[in-house]
Amino acid sequence: MNPKFMLFVLLGPQGSGKGTQAEYLEDHFSIPTFSVGAGLREEAKKKTRAGKEIRAIMAKGMLVPNEYSVGLVKKRMKAKDAKRGLIIDGFPRDLDQAKALEAVAPASAAIIIEIRDKESIERLANRLVCETCGMNYNTKTRKPVVKGICDKDGGKLKHRADDEPLAIKKRLEIYHKETEPVIALYKKMKKALFIEGEQPIIEVHEDIVAGLKEQFAIEKVRKTTKKKK
Ligand code: AMP
Repeated sequence: MNPKFMLFVLLGPQGSGKGTQAEYLEDHFSIPTFSVGAGLREEAKKKTRAGKEIRAIMAKGMLVPNEYSVGLVKKRMKAKDAKRGLIIDGFPRDLDQAKALEAVAPASAAIIIEIRDKESIERLANRLVCETCGMNYNTKTRKPVVKGICDKDGGKLKHRADDEPLAIKKRLEIYHKETEPVIALYKKMKKALFIEGEQPIIEVHEDIVAGLKEQFAIEKVRKTTKKKK
């Protein structure tokens, strides 16, 4: 692995804005994002045994077996566009995944976006997702220009099947039980960057960029323009 490989993991409860912040970071650092949840949703569409299994587990809001999530992450890291780095949204979610990831490529920083459970539940209840590109909207805080239609590609916006109360409750429970120990591990490794997630989107982004610079000396590489002779 390239020693300068930038690997950011984005952690935080459901609805904390990981996907949105990943998009901002992608623009800022010019490295791609991989949403493990979105990757798994693609797998779940397949009419295979694995697809069926993943679909059933996701609908209940539970974690799919690590062989699937770890496999997807490893594959994505090998892609050409990820030569300089990768932003991973929603992975690792338990200690086994964190150890598997550190063994393949150590994280440069783990960005933890913190919001209260109450806020998480409210945000998910108002969340809409584009059927085609997966872009997230919120009926209160991030409205599309045209109601029900994605700004990016004109796709239909809908509620996610696992954004219903029972599945949300299960997902938050898993977050506290399985993902909080991952955060403790990154804290121990001095790789954790904690961010207040209940502020406007742009301020969350600015805090992340500032934190990466102050805590990890990671900043955007400025392009140098060669002088003509
Ligand atoms: P998300 O889109 O990140 O909210 O993830 C949606 C669902 O995908 C989760 O509730 C899990 O069922 C599954 N999932 C996402 N990431 C992981 C992961 N790292 N490990 C296992 N299951 C995952």
